[in-house]
Amino acid sequence: METIATENELGLIVCNRQPLAFERGQGSHVWDEQGERYLDFTSGWGVTSLGHSHPALVGAIVEQAGKLMQNPNSGFTYSPVRARLLQALTAVLPQQSWRFFFANSGAEANDAAVKLARKATGRRNVVAISGSFHGRTLATLSLSGGADNAARYQPTVPGNLFLPFADLDVLQQVIEDDVAAVIVEPVQGEGGVRPLPPNFLSGLSQLCRQHGVLLIVDEVQTGFCRTGRFFAFEAEGVVPDILTMGKGIAGGFPFAAFAVSGSVAEKLDKGDHGGTYCGNPLGCAAALAVVEHMVDNRVAEHVAALGHEAMYRLQNIAEQAPALIREVRGQGLLIGLQLHSDEQVGLLTQACLQQRLLVTPTRNAVVRLLPNLLMTREELQEGLDLLAAAVSALSR
Ligand code: PLP
Repeated sequence: METIATENELGLIVCNRQPLAFERGQGSHVWDEQGERYLDFTSGWGVTSLGHSHPALVGAIVEQAGKLMQNPNSGFTYSPVRARLLQALTAVLPQQSWRFFFANSGAEANDAAVKLARKATGRRNVVAISGSFHGRTLATLSLSGGADNAARYQPTVPGNLFLPFADLDVLQQVIEDDVAAVIVEPVQGEGGVRPLPPNFLSGLSQLCRQHGVLLIVDEVQTGFCRTGRFFAFEAEGVVPDILTMGKGIAGGFPFAAFAVSGSVAEKLDKGDHGGTYCGNPLGCAAALAVVEHMVDNRVAEHVAALGHEAMYRLQNIAEQAPALIREVRGQGLLIGLQLHSDEQVGLLTQACLQQRLLVTPTRNAVVRLLPNLLMTREELQEGLDLLAAAVSALSR
């Protein structure tokens, strides 16, 4: 208990922390300080895409750490492992003259995307969707949730417009208004696992093209096989002008990226972006190991199959407990259980914990399930058994 007491005394705790202190993880399981084992259906908020301490990832990090962790002169010099990662990412994206830049967090990637969209278009405004989440820097916070989300941190970054969820008609009315870009998540993750309706992204892409507005697709949560495709936007056959990536990209190492189209890249100049750790070789080695593992092992297909199984079973669980679960939704292994109240979310999260199953409470009365992407069928079913037990304990 010393860990928890020390953190509570000395840490700045600005979230509801569970009284759990974890010491190690292996694959789909983690162990707390008392040696108690838990099945992890959170993946550290969608990060540990290959599970905990996957040997391919650990090996790549150890090898690179022994060679070089940070380039001399950082971004002023080149790196073989960064070059290999650039090639690997180019190969998993649809054909286009992409230019990549590496960052340290999803918020940082989105912040840069918005900044560079303004530079590339010479326009001022950015449109986001109500209920979205793009990060916690001042610029990304100003584009998250809705107009009232950032009220506590005034003055926020100006020039943001919020569309009602998936409403192209309203966009049509504002798109002439000096709009540089629209930023969108294919599935709103933090907002409660809300997938965009079919054809919305393709309609949005068309509208953006007609008006010279850049389409920024935020795949920080949905990318890297999470939804059963390498990137969720592929389902709609669209190609973003700027794509942002993070979380699962490096399996637990803090790393993120954004890619811009060739025509956006042409508008950018030296000095437009940078950062001490951007494209650092250790992060690049981690991301390269993850991407290669995903490609070599067809992880997207595995996730799609597992996602179908999970959805089928969860519908059954939901049918047995209508007073608790209103709806099950999601794509691949990004799944949300919509409950009737936030209070029920707290109760179900706690009931799962009693079963030694870790789940993520999310906004709008949703419990989110984010198993790792290499989870076996047996582990998935075991987790769903534990969830069913938690649901029936609550229903009693
Ligand atoms: N964008 C999306 C869609 C996210 O889900 C998140 C985090 O949850 C972010 C951006 C911010 O990423 P980070 O927490 O790495 O800054």
